[in-house]
Amino acid sequence: MSERIQHIVIVGGGSAGWLTANILAARFRSGSTGITTTLVESPNVPTVGVGEGTWPSMRTTLKNIGIDEADFIRQCDASMKQGTWFKDWINLGDKPYYHPFSLPEGFDTVNLAEHWLNGEAGNLSFAQAVTPQYAVCEQGRAPKQIGVPGYAYTVNYGYHLDAGKFAALLTENAVSKLDVTHIQADVVGVFCDTDGYITALKTEQAGDIEGDLFIDCTGFKSMLLGEHYGVSLKSQRQYLFNNAALAVQVPYDNDDAPIATTTHSTAQRSGWVWDIGLQRRRGVGHVFSTDYQSAVETEETLDQYLKSTGRTTGLDGLSPRLLSFEPGYRESFWVKNCVGVGLSAGFIEPLEASALVLIELSASAIAEQLPHDRASMGVVTKRFNREFSSRWEQIIDFLKLHYALSQRADSQYWQDNRDAESIPETLAENLLLWRSRAPWYYDDRRSDEMFPSASYQYVLYGMGFESMVTSTQLRDEERQREAAIRYFAEAKTKARRYSQHLPPNRFLMNQVLDKDFAAI
Ligand SMILES: Cc1cc2nc3c(=O)[nH]c(=O)nc-3n(C[C@H](O)[C@H](O)[C@H](O)COP(=O)(O)OP(=O)(O)OC[C@H]3O[C@@H](n4cnc5c(N)ncnc54)[C@H](O)[C@@H]3O)c2cc1C
Repeated sequence: MSERIQHIVIVGGGSAGWLTANILAARFRSGSTGITTTLVESPNVPTVGVGEGTWPSMRTTLKNIGIDEADFIRQCDASMKQGTWFKDWINLGDKPYYHPFSLPEGFDTVNLAEHWLNGEAGNLSFAQAVTPQYAVCEQGRAPKQIGVPGYAYTVNYGYHLDAGKFAALLTENAVSKLDVTHIQADVVGVFCDTDGYITALKTEQAGDIEGDLFIDCTGFKSMLLGEHYGVSLKSQRQYLFNNAALAVQVPYDNDDAPIATTTHSTAQRSGWVWDIGLQRRRGVGHVFSTDYQSAVETEETLDQYLKSTGRTTGLDGLSPRLLSFEPGYRESFWVKNCVGVGLSAGFIEPLEASALVLIELSASAIAEQLPHDRASMGVVTKRFNREFSSRWEQIIDFLKLHYALSQRADSQYWQDNRDAESIPETLAENLLLWRSRAPWYYDDRRSDEMFPSASYQYVLYGMGFESMVTSTQLRDEERQREAAIRYFAEAKTKARRYSQHLPPNRFLMNQVLDKDFAAI
């Protein structure tokens, strides 16, 4: 091993491995860095094969690694996702609410939440009042037209995608365009120097693979970080109870069936069901806690859910897969010259699709902060570990918010989920604060916050949380009120305009099958 960090070796060829390979190789390929990227994946161990909902950040990632948007949509059976639609989370049968990707109108200049709480938007729901994206989602419209350039948008969006096809596209891109070396072999051993730094990996089929930095993307196995370095998983089950999912792929009834433009999340007695619309099928899964519900009961609930969404035969003829996990994250993510990315670093239920975005953030942080040599590695390691522990804490707070605000009392699961003991202290403190004022940008700890205050607003007020807002809290009252009224009116005008001009999601996806987006 050289003292300089030049040869990066990634173990694992799932979404984490290939996203990381693409992000690193795109960053270091040009110029005279001499940095190389190698990815070794087992030909025998399958990838987890789920992970179909992304954030808008994926647009930037795909653009930066040189993938054309229309090609991506065609090759990954992808469709456009504008946020999440939550049903039965407040109470069974209550009006569903949205967590859309677009910020409230004028978010930087005026806190519309305060004015909405003051009744200045009439009786519209929060999302309906503050963003035209509500209307776009309600009508199943796409977030743009074919004439809008690739990755640009009318309203903000991410994707629903087929995880297997996505890994294949990323493989092709990394190898053919970004010079990533691809080795298919099982890693069976680890060689270290006297300081405990990894020098090489022993493989079954391809000899030893040397490197300076090793990225563990081996999924739940966490072969380097967990098994080799013995970094334990910090379970978060005391906050987030779910530890299993029953996932299934569901064909559409016909080729023209509408494609939902948001992830549908429907709360159940002991968990919730995700429903993701791709071009040629839906991806559906019931996330649940084995402490409250058996796999057999989960299968029955999933069967009922499919019937309630129009598939009269329910689970008949389908092959559901049971996936188990311990919700949590590693005590450290970077140890010596090894970093864990993806499931090897941790996993928490996919309620807000936070896993793929965390991979994008981790790989970008490695690319941006790559230590030049071993001497600077320790500092980068500490920073990385601090940053990502904090990101995990934020994810846990935000996911728990959905449970803490629920009023459901139809099962022990929901009652226990509201128990004060199960609510992280940071979330409990924030909820106390937000009883007396609405969150805004000053509540964000970082500029690239994973769940910024706008996300909190959508969930808090979507779920009926009440923040007391007295007129004295409104800064620069009259001017703020005028601005708020203007933004509420703008949201309405845009909603009308977009409803007329934006095509249905299915229509746009069909167009993309034989036409590219406009050139920039
Ligand atoms: C039920 C469920 C639903 C999810 N939904 C979402 C979602 O909607 N949105 C989202 O962002 N994320 C979601 N995720 C998370 C997402 O699936 C993962 O973050 C993503 O797929 C990355 O997985 P991975 O690459 O870390 O692991 P894997 O896909 O498991 O890949 C592991 C790789 O390591 C290789 N490997 C293992 N051992 C060895 C060895 N000894 N030698 C060589 N190679 C080896 C395997 O061959 C494989 O290539 C979900 C996860 C689950 C469980």
